[in-house]
Amino acid sequence: MKVCHTVAECRETLGQYRRASESIGLVPTMGFLHAGHMALVKEAKRHSDRVVATIFVNPTQFGETADLDAYPRNEARDLVMLKEAGVDVVLIPEVADVYPEGDETIVETTRMANMLHGKVRPGHFRGVTTVVARLFNFTQPDVACFGEKDYQQLQVIKRMTRDLGFPIEIIGVPIVREADGLAMSSRNVRLTPQDRQAALVLSRALDAAEVSDAPTVDALRDVIATAISTEPRATLRGLDIVQAETLNTIEDRLSGAVAIMLSVEFGGVLLLDQRVITL
Ligand code: AMP
Repeated sequence: MKVCHTVAECRETLGQYRRASESIGLVPTMGFLHAGHMALVKEAKRHSDRVVATIFVNPTQFGETADLDAYPRNEARDLVMLKEAGVDVVLIPEVADVYPEGDETIVETTRMANMLHGKVRPGHFRGVTTVVARLFNFTQPDVACFGEKDYQQLQVIKRMTRDLGFPIEIIGVPIVREADGLAMSSRNVRLTPQDRQAALVLSRALDAAEVSDAPTVDALRDVIATAISTEPRATLRGLDIVQAETLNTIEDRLSGAVAIMLSVEFGGVLLLDQRVITL
């Protein structure tokens, strides 16, 4: 496994693969890896001859620098995991390599970036698309894998890829969970033992939604909010029920593929979970 600390080095290595007609799969991450990231690597390997993973804690997608500073890091462990998973190249770029001095170019999906989670975190998805577009240009992959856990992010990236005409297939990978149902996340380590236990309410609420047969948005919202309210440590921060691909709001009756996007806070740690149900 080759570890590149500069974009130039990474381009050079990937160029060799491309000249040998090998296809390339990209797995972008912010590090502090877990089995969820490894599922992306596995999927990328299934679709391509070579896999490049990136580790970059992207400053432009964080609202507050405190949040950015608190982001957990463990590069040594990440590299062991990526090597074991059979990754060919890891790019760990410096901020100045990704955002050169005097940088003034942004990429934004103007509608999708500013709805739902994007409303609560202004500029977040603009930061995501800006960095992902750059990573696409640095690595020029044939496929790129993203988790369904960050559901809006996945849809935003699909839209950007289509709109800008990147010749890249975007693959969504199902959420990997702990044995008890909690969606794996780099943030889970910040939960107290009590909150870790309480956090099971997210998947429980989504299970309740799935079996509820609620016919309307309001009825489904009630089912989920009620399930969350059974856990006193949980504060419901976001509950969006939208059409799965467009993220459009649903007025009343549920039909087709519906995405439920849930965010719940436990003692300052915001956890996300989502489920797509088809009616
Ligand atoms: P992050 O390092 O948190 O930016 O995540 C990098 C990628 O891994 C994103 O595409 C995430 O959606 C994906 N990911 C994170 N957690 C999981 C999970 N539990 N299951 C599947 N994919 C995940």
